Amino acid sequence: MALTSNGKIDPSAKQMFKINGTLVPVPGDADQKEYGDLIRRVIDDNYAKRFHWKVYRYYHKEGSGFDTRRWVIYLEWLASKGIVTRHYELCCGACDESIAVHDDIDPSLIGTEMECNHCGESFEIEKNSWILFYSITPQHAAEITAQMKTTT
Ligand SMILES: [Zn+2]
Repeated sequence: MALTSNGKIDPSAKQMFKINGTLVPVPGDADQKEYGDLIRRVIDDNYAKRFHWKVYRYYHKEGSGFDTRRWVIYLEWLASKGIVTRHYELCCGACDESIAVHDDIDPSLIGTEMECNHCGESFEIEKNSWILFYSITPQHAAEITAQMKTTT
């Protein structure tokens, strides 16, 4: 939080939060409306349990000028508030199937061999063997859906 010279909170300063240790501004009202609408569509279409940040592609065509950076900041902001949860799926290097779901990338597994229980191939785990997915808790999804019904 930025303070003015007399120690008061500067009302013009944007609130900040961290993504992977980097401070970024909290999404403003316009972003919260635009991307909040997108989140409601994600919930409406039953993707709340598991969605990738590229889910926006179902709603915004390539080249539509959709701002992916601001969208990811919005998702991470929801994650920082506990509204969405991050999951890392460990995926097979041969068949791309999801093998396990972790809360975070596990550095101790990087460089180790794993046998895929889908295709039977062995592969070496790399940092990018994990794919980040988001989910929205059923409680939050219900709240967001209820808001949609009262505001539209
Ligand atoms: Zn496999």
